[in-house]
Order: sequence, then structure tokens, then C-alpha cells
Amino acid sequence: MKIEAYLSKVFRTIRRFKLVEPNDRIFVALSGGKDSASALFVLKKYIEENSVDCELKGFHINFGSPISNRVQEVVEKQAEMAETKLIVFPLKNIGVSLADVRKKTKRPLCSVCGVLKRYLMNKVPREMGATKVATGHHMDDFLVFFFKNVLGQNFFWISKFKPKLESQHPKMLCKIRPLFMVGGEENRLFCESLNVPFIEEDVCPYTYLNCRIDLKREKWYRIIRRIEEEHKNFRHQMMTSIIKMSEFFTTKNSLKECSICGEPTSQEICGFCKLFKLNKDKNVK
Ligand SMILES: [Zn+2]
Repeated sequence: MKIEAYLSKVFRTIRRFKLVEPNDRIFVALSGGKDSASALFVLKKYIEENSVDCELKGFHINFGSPISNRVQEVVEKQAEMAETKLIVFPLKNIGVSLADVRKKTKRPLCSVCGVLKRYLMNKVPREMGATKVATGHHMDDFLVFFFKNVLGQNFFWISKFKPKLESQHPKMLCKIRPLFMVGGEENRLFCESLNVPFIEEDVCPYTYLNCRIDLKREKWYRIIRRIEEEHKNFRHQMMTSIIKMSEFFTTKNSLKECSICGEPTSQEICGFCKLFKLNKDKNVK
């Protein structure tokens, strides 16, 4: 695929859904992988070519695992190449370590990690003045989520399947997904064309602990690739339909503030506090 075609697809998404607006301060959540790197470079290019008066920064969470420093080096290189400022947030800043949590909870580590990322990717950039958080989620990710949610009858989640998730609470940042209409392979080619270094696969910082959740997802990526081979343009058509479908589902639970930390949540106590603060108390007793 030609890089021009890739860029024009992504630019169209940015323009159509107003992902970038004047006076924005956008934090791009960088994992070291090809997808978030693509989000950074494509946003940078869009802002420059359209002379949008806004700020773009990289944001990275260092999970403190044995491979985290190697990942951080790659992220630093990406930000340097994109000439954007990078903010690194070490998990140890909040006195949390994934290895500890693993001993205290029966929940799979991937879901613990998801809770952490969602929490910190909203709280830290907001406290640093961000207006939006951009992620590298792409078309294939959303298609996999979509099929799994439909099969599991979790229709509520479909309301979140759009390129721009508006803020539902003063403390909740707007989330943007510029790569909504392009796939993972296209992101790889884009990064390679710019010679941007990236970590192979979106690395789980604890892969060495045998976190195998990705095998199931891999199967779904394969299924989607197979349909696309049989039915050209399947992914693009599906995504266009999913955006329209998302309008039929509303985010019904209104957000309130967590009674422990004050961060936005749909429940009395947020997912982060349930895992880290409550578990910690249990240990003290
Ligand atoms: Zn909380």
C-alpha cells in the first residue's frame, strides 16, 4: 500500500471526526509498538501540514519490568524522531508494582494491566493539562473487540466504537483514535517507510510470566484476515457500519467520582482503587 493512500485515509478520519482542533494539547500514549508510533507520526504530520495551532506530546508508562527500560529507549527514539516532547511515568511513582499485584489477586495480569493503563492514561495527562489522549488502536483491534462483544452479548460496548470518544465527565479526557480506519499491517508499513524503530508486537511487560491471552486474540485476527481475502474491503465496510451502529447504543451509566481517589468511575469505588488500595489494606490487616 502506498504511504500517500495510508495518510489520506487517516487524515480523512482526523478531519471528519474533528480529532484535532485548535488549542488542543494532545498526549499520545506510546507503548513502543508500531501502532502507537504510527499515531504519533501521523498526528504530527497532520498538525504540520494543516498548521493547526495545538500541542502534541508523547506519554509513556514504564511498568518497571525487566524489559521496560528497553521499551522506554525505543519510545524515546520515536519521540526524538518525531521531534515531540516525551513524558515518561514510572509505575513505581505511585508505589505500585505489577508483580506485587499478581500475588494479591486472582485476576489475569492482562486485565490488571488494562485497569492501570486506562486509569493512568486519563489521570496523568489530565493533571498535566492535556485536552485529549490519542491511542494507537486500529481497525483490526476494533473488529476483534466487536466480534467478541457481539458474541458475548455485551452490546453496551458498541457505543464506544468510534474514532472520538467525547468526555463524559469533567475529569475524563476525550479519547481519539486516528487509526480507526487502517489496520495493523498498514501501520507496520508506515513505520518502516519512515525508519521508525518499534518493539515487535505490542509487548506485554510480563510476557516472561506466561501471559497467554494474546493467543485467543491472534485467532480472531486470522479470521478477519481470511474474510478480507474472500470479500475485498470487508474491514473498511465493517468499520463504516460499526461507526453508524455505535450511534444506536448510548453510554448509559453516568460517571461519578470514586469515593477513595476522586477519579471518574461508573461505580462507587473505581477499578484502580479496588485493585490497589483495597488489596493493600487487606495486606496491612
Ligand atoms: Zn479510585
